[in-house]
Amino acid sequence: MCALGLPTGAAAWGSEGHQIVAAIARHYLTPKVHNKVDRMLAADPDTLTAHDMLSEANWADRYRNSGHGQTGNWHFVDIELDHPDLKAACFNMPASGPLASQGPARDCIVSKIREFTRELADPATTAAERLLALKFLLHFVGDLHQPLHAADNHDKGGNCVPLNLGGPRQVNLHGYWDTVVVRELGDNAQSVAAALVGRITPGDKADWEKGGPPSWAAESYSIALTTAYTIGSKPGCVPDRAPISLPPGYDAAAREAAAVQLEKAGVRLAALLNYALDP
Ligand SMILES: [Zn+2]
Repeated sequence: MCALGLPTGAAAWGSEGHQIVAAIARHYLTPKVHNKVDRMLAADPDTLTAHDMLSEANWADRYRNSGHGQTGNWHFVDIELDHPDLKAACFNMPASGPLASQGPARDCIVSKIREFTRELADPATTAAERLLALKFLLHFVGDLHQPLHAADNHDKGGNCVPLNLGGPRQVNLHGYWDTVVVRELGDNAQSVAAALVGRITPGDKADWEKGGPPSWAAESYSIALTTAYTIGSKPGCVPDRAPISLPPGYDAAAREAAAVQLEKAGVRLAALLNYALDP
């Protein structure tokens, strides 16, 4: 959300969150797709990230922050708490143009995941565009599962809500969900992913693979409503707002909700890649 001119640190699941999603997804890729993804990424001429799948899952944030601000809106869909309307939040879902990577700046994550999945699956797509489609998908499926990337209280997805976590640390509600709760799961993305994969049952996987970006956005939105925004903040962005302390039980509930969202994002990312690259 730093495309809105806000300080970073609040840039979507922090880099650890995206690495966890990619590591979970890797577990569920078919061997063919696993190899294909690694081969495609190894050939990436871009130097913004290393070329392994976990590093590339953070590429889209780096890309946006290095002179491609026109992709900033693609990282979220601000469904308003007081007027939940997916289409309006998605700039009325514009047509993408011939290349999704060149699509209009006013577009949202729900449309972009669909567009990039279509491109990745289409053998007629150029190799360069397919690589971009893969890299955007590695990141956007994660972002869509951060509840505050699919909900807004006229507060820039929680970026305008300062929290008091005790001590000198300054964090806002959005950044808390991006990084603080994720770090509470552990500081090694690979081991956090392994622990989360261990909790996923075949039934969970089958359930989570249903639906698509619009229903995944609706799910994130409802978690924002029932978990993230129970912080009791007022709508809007006002300067010098007093920091809010977390209510009792908030942190534990947030941590568990974030863990399940990371699991779902990993399973769904794998399903999209398996579909697009090994139909
Ligand atoms: Zn992002």
